[in-house]
Amino acid sequence: MTEKDLWDEIPYMGYIALGRRGMEKIELTQCFIPGCENKNIEKLKPIKKEETEDEVKLVQTYSIHCEECNKTFKLSFETLKKVARKKKRSIDENNEDQNEILSMGLIYVFDDNGKKMHLGFF
Ligand SMILES: [Zn+2]
Repeated sequence: MTEKDLWDEIPYMGYIALGRRGMEKIELTQCFIPGCENKNIEKLKPIKKEETEDEVKLVQTYSIHCEECNKTFKLSFETLKKVARKKKRSIDENNEDQNEILSMGLIYVFDDNGKKMHLGFF
C-alpha cells in the first residue's frame, strides 16, 4: 500500500470536545509531535497501518512520519461497538445530536516515545 492510499482512508478532520461549549473541529493533517507545527500534508508521510479488531472495538492505527521534525507519531482511531445501541433507549428518540455523538469513534495520538494521548472524536 502506498502512502497516498493511506491518506485516502485517514480522516482529515476530527472533533475535540469543549465541555459545555460543544465540539470544535481539528485538522488531523498536522504533525502531533510536541513543538512541531508542521501542517503541510506533503511533509507528512503515512508509513504503516495496523488494524486490530475484537468484540469491543475496531482499532486502526497509522504511523505517520513528519519530514519537518524527522519524527514519527501515530494516529489511532478506535471505533467502539455496541455503544450507540446500548444507550439509545434511555435518551429521546428524536435527539439526533446525541445519537451522532454516541456513534463516534475515539482518536488517540502516540508521540515518538509511544506516549498515548486522547485527542478527540471522529
Ligand atoms: Zn513534525
